[in-house]
Amino acid sequence: MEYRILGKTGLRVSVLSYGASPLGSVFREVDEAEGIRTVHTALDLGINFIDVSPYYGLTRAETVLGKALRGIPRTQYVLATKVGRYGDQEFDFSAARVTASVEESLRRLNVPYIDLIQCHDIEFGDLDQVVNETIPALRRLQQQGKVRFIGITGLPLKIFRYVLERTDVDSILSYCRYALNNTQLVDLIPFLQEKQVGIINASPLSMGLLTNRGAPAWHPASEEIKQTCARAAAFCREQGVDIAKLALQFALANPDIHTTLVGTANPENIRKNVAWMEEPLDEELLAQVQQILAPIHNQIWLSGRPEN
Ligand code: NAD
Repeated sequence: MEYRILGKTGLRVSVLSYGASPLGSVFREVDEAEGIRTVHTALDLGINFIDVSPYYGLTRAETVLGKALRGIPRTQYVLATKVGRYGDQEFDFSAARVTASVEESLRRLNVPYIDLIQCHDIEFGDLDQVVNETIPALRRLQQQGKVRFIGITGLPLKIFRYVLERTDVDSILSYCRYALNNTQLVDLIPFLQEKQVGIINASPLSMGLLTNRGAPAWHPASEEIKQTCARAAAFCREQGVDIAKLALQFALANPDIHTTLVGTANPENIRKNVAWMEEPLDEELLAQVQQILAPIHNQIWLSGRPEN
């Protein structure tokens, strides 16, 4: 496993990291024991950065992850969770709620501290509140040793610039913006590097679009995006390749991204993903798949308040 330093945090994180949202059964009903085995498989194979949120499965993912982490030395993994999002339409970035939320997460996760606390999907909130109230509240928790570093997450890229031009944060988590079908994150990278911000890329499989199973029913992409990605997956199958392999290798090939979060609750997927990292990327197949995806390249869906 290769490791990189997450911006100015000094945290050493595996380039392939573990997204725990599937532990909350967000893609399919997950057996708890299988979920726990998946976390252990990830740690055994050198994956040391784990991301979760109280929102995933409405606290279920944090609870299952907490059980999985029981008995594992706290220094063996870098743990990220979030505040501010608690349901599909339930957001609260107030100082009181995020402070209580961190305490609740510490209890569910069974840990004395969180390495990275992130404001979750801030485009649904008031960005000035995030700057002036949420982040200062998290800084107070940082002084108490309950959290080590502070980050922000979301879909629109301009939210990151807005916040970083007004206050200091340690990392950004962007999703579905650096994958076979969308590479818009690259335009933001020079700005992030100038600020020495940790760069976390999530959903390299575009939340299931770039898999043989396809997108889950709740996926917000348009029918055109879904169908075009399904055509790309079928083309890869005809060539005897799983599109998830190509998608993962493509995302991991960018050295400016510190870590790439892949979600799964299946230990076999973790093993496959780690093995695929070692194999060379098929440049010819990549070019063919990019051609299929060209009509929808960089298309995205709306997320959050219109002003954000
Ligand atoms: P993803 O692109 O990682 O895709 C997950 C899907 O791919 C799951 O259905 C999983 O079963 C499948 N998969 C994984 N490995 C596979 C393999 N080898 N073969 C076939 N299928 C495979 O999307 P994701 O899980 O949404 O994103 C990863 C993580 O990033 C999340 O778990 C979460 O921790 C984080 N994330 C955060 C935000 C945010 O903060 N707003 C948004 C999206 C994702």
